[in-house]
Amino acid sequence: MIKTALFRIKDKILNIARKKSPWVLHYECGGCNGCSIETFACLSPRYDVERFGMQEKGNPRHSDVFAIAGTVTAKNKDVVDLIYHQMSKPKVVVAIGACAISKGIFHDAYNSVGPVDKIIPVDIYVPGCPPKPEAIMDGIIKAIELLETN
Ligand code: SF4
Repeated sequence: MIKTALFRIKDKILNIARKKSPWVLHYECGGCNGCSIETFACLSPRYDVERFGMQEKGNPRHSDVFAIAGTVTAKNKDVVDLIYHQMSKPKVVVAIGACAISKGIFHDAYNSVGPVDKIIPVDIYVPGCPPKPEAIMDGIIKAIELLETN
């Protein structure tokens, strides 16, 4: 009983730490790169997303938030799945832009196998083509809030 209570306290402390410094893995799977450029704008001094303690990470094993843009193609479908499964729990997936949400302008492309949520579970959707940096930041902040409850 005491052990369970201690584990709960440990989880709460970890969740607070996670919320204060979430690490975000950004992946562009098959769009025009417009969404990625807007995502990178969030890191610029103008939007300064790092003020929320956020850091862009290249390693799925170190990341809490999976920010994914572009439509999933036949070629990278397995990569998306692998990245998702390499991330440890708790994790949150943010689909950025129309291509990630609904295939967007690539809806009838021969190599598009679907929106992101057909391959992995998505928690937050950020619509737009491309969405503005403010909208992307809003999506990531919502993802951080979800991290605390996961
Ligand atoms: S949603 Fe629009 S801007 Fe974003 S990757 Fe697709 S086509 Fe490009």
